Amino acid sequence: MTAATTAKTIDPNANTDCSAQARSARPVEPLIFEKTVPGQRGIDLPPLDVSQYDIPDELRGESLPLPEIGAGEVMAHYTHLSNRNFSVDGNFYPLGSCTMKHNPRINEWGAALPGFSQLHPLQDDHLIQGALRLLYETRCFLQEIAGLPAVSLQPAAGAHGEFTALQVIRAYFEDHDQSQRRLVFATDNAHGTNPASCTMCGASVIAVKTVDGHTDLDDLKRLIDEHGAENVAAFMITNPNTAGLFDAYVSKIADVIHDAGAMLYVDGANMNAILGKTRPGDFGTDAMHYNTHKTFSTPHGCGGPGAGPIAVTEKLAPYLPLPQVVMDDDGSFRLEYDRPKSIGKVRSFIGQFSVLVRCWTYIAACGPEGLRNVAEKAVLNANYLAARLQHKYEMPFFNPGKGKFCAHEFVTVPRTLLDKGVTLVDIAKRMIDYNIHPPTMHWPVHDCLMVEPTETESKRTLDQFAEVMLQIADQIEKDPQSLADAPTDAVIHRADEVAAARQPVLVWKD
Ligand SMILES: *Cc1c(COP(=O)(O)O)cnc(C)c1O
Repeated sequence: MTAATTAKTIDPNANTDCSAQARSARPVEPLIFEKTVPGQRGIDLPPLDVSQYDIPDELRGESLPLPEIGAGEVMAHYTHLSNRNFSVDGNFYPLGSCTMKHNPRINEWGAALPGFSQLHPLQDDHLIQGALRLLYETRCFLQEIAGLPAVSLQPAAGAHGEFTALQVIRAYFEDHDQSQRRLVFATDNAHGTNPASCTMCGASVIAVKTVDGHTDLDDLKRLIDEHGAENVAAFMITNPNTAGLFDAYVSKIADVIHDAGAMLYVDGANMNAILGKTRPGDFGTDAMHYNTHKTFSTPHGCGGPGAGPIAVTEKLAPYLPLPQVVMDDDGSFRLEYDRPKSIGKVRSFIGQFSVLVRCWTYIAACGPEGLRNVAEKAVLNANYLAARLQHKYEMPFFNPGKGKFCAHEFVTVPRTLLDKGVTLVDIAKRMIDYNIHPPTMHWPVHDCLMVEPTETESKRTLDQFAEVMLQIADQIEKDPQSLADAPTDAVIHRADEVAAARQPVLVWKD
């Protein structure tokens, strides 16, 4: 795996002040119903090979007004629509915390192999030895990368991994006569899924302050004293955190948590920055999740599909979900269901199998050196961009002069630009005019953009992005109003997001 495997083109000189006239001249794709030509057919059904039977009238409804259109035109229609989609394959997608990296096509080759793609979920173990071996090896890879001795591949996404791990921790405490441990601490810059997972598990969430993007250790100690160490189940920390910083005090935090008898949970969404460099198990982690679709590359825009394996310590291992894939002494593989302390099933069958095939393929293709290279280039790319932009886009957590670098992403709060009278949304929408996906906004702090370039972007793309951002800053300095209508060069202009949410139009005609 080498970094810079793709080169995206962003034209910093793209015409961004399309007139209203030019805009209205853009052809609007008719709806597929409007393309109907009565009598046209997209498919030919094979001749009947059973005797004809007329459905009685009382069982028939009105005939459906389905579009009548040829196969080629159906294909063209949906291809045109798909071209309107923003995609990581075609454009720069620096959506912070989401790790929108290039998805190597070898993953798709692996997932499509008939021995994987045509499995039946109820096949006996002895007929699916190859698939079980792949799962077993994926487990081993993820154990080694985490520095933890046990992994469950069952959870379907990061959030589901959080939920599953919290259930595992709860089962452990119940089994050790400490069921009163129902409080979970999470940093105030945590991803929304952290508190949501706690609530789903019936735990109360308590926010721990962050200072300069890092966990405030004193606040953590104070909260433990205030609520009673014996009531704390876990502390959830994201490391590297959502401010794009590696929490170097994490071992100290782990000591404080362990002294309270509680568990350290690491949200592993940002594992991309530390692959092969440090391991959560080495800094005191008891449980963590991976987002394999982020770190180990599966296309994952718009909500799926993903996988959220969890890694845990020896003492939590007996409580992992069912089934667990194991290897017997004779080298054969099987799904083990006989695990009396397990929290049970959290997902049907064997988890998100095809996503795990992609995960295996990616890790195997990279190898240990390649994974380390991923982390190094991801961090290098983020620091390069931050350094190029910092004189126009203020960065609260980035100051190389004072030895403050970022990990895989950086956060800017462009206060000077915002003070000229533009909003963060204006800036984000203007980026769309340059074919750039707007970064994550307003998280982890208000009025911020969180930019994660990933390791797979070329220097050329990074430079073009920097030029675009500097041009936008220039436009704001000269004429802040010029951003008010952005995006002007996209199919849909400034949408009324409130109306879209409150009064969605869900039918194609009145
Ligand atoms: C993406 C993300 C999650 C949630 O993961 P999903 O796989 O989308 O469920 C949790 N925490 C952080 C920090 C994330 O970036």
